[in-house]
Amino acid sequence: MQAWVIGNWKQNPATKREVETLVTEIVTANNERSVNNSNTDSSHDKAKTCQLMLAPSCIHLSAVSSRLQDSSILCAAQDISAHSATVGAYTGDCSAQQVADAGATWTILGHSERRQYHQESNEILLAKLVCALEQKLGAVLCIGETQAQYDARDTIKVIDEQLQVVKQLLAQPIAKSMDLDHTLAEQLIIAYEPVWAIGTGKVPTVSEVSATHKHIKEQLASFASKLPAITVLYGGSVNADNADSFAASPVIDGALVGGASLKAESFLAIAKAFS
Ligand code: PEP
Repeated sequence: MQAWVIGNWKQNPATKREVETLVTEIVTANNERSVNNSNTDSSHDKAKTCQLMLAPSCIHLSAVSSRLQDSSILCAAQDISAHSATVGAYTGDCSAQQVADAGATWTILGHSERRQYHQESNEILLAKLVCALEQKLGAVLCIGETQAQYDARDTIKVIDEQLQVVKQLLAQPIAKSMDLDHTLAEQLIIAYEPVWAIGTGKVPTVSEVSATHKHIKEQLASFASKLPAITVLYGGSVNADNADSFAASPVIDGALVGGASLKAESFLAIAKAFS
């Protein structure tokens, strides 16, 4: 399975100039990495490919996607409107059509910060997932438990509730019209992000994450017999030092990275760990 490393820049950096510097550094370092990989590749020793993706804030989407055009790195939005996939009277929102037009091919959905500060429920997320699919955007759906839920050993219960939105999505006309085997599985990624691990420097053990990922994969498989393995990423304080340990698990298909994606060096070190 191809690995994915996705940088979620959140509400960073502050200026267009800093965005330009960061994206240029990442593209340059990635080009060097690709050259090094192809020099060391042989038919017996193929490096596992790692797809990189960057999710800048909406205002920087066009600039970043233009800069990424000649690279292998994909561009994602951090969110889309739940109200309309196209246009309408929804002040402050950006639609799936608008972010696709700005160059995004994916969108993050249901990040814990969206759930916390914008009260995003499964109902809202279902609407957003449908909008994404209608505009042919892939969706990285974030799920994960809070510290209190982790302490109460409710992780599985919480993520099962959050995954119900995928089951509901499968019943929607847009999903029914898609080829589950290929198109839907290729347009949906799950990012397991324990809320207590995001930006805190605290991480669950690799065996805890692996057990949760195994469960997520089994749950998704139980929703539709034709649904093949869906990519499941881990997110929460992944950095250049701990990425290798997560990458060693066969059920951790990559990482969703916040803080460490704001420096080319650490982002590319994480990509290397998953390559
Ligand atoms: C995130 O916000 O998705 C995230 C994983 O952040 P961090 O890597 O900073 O913990």
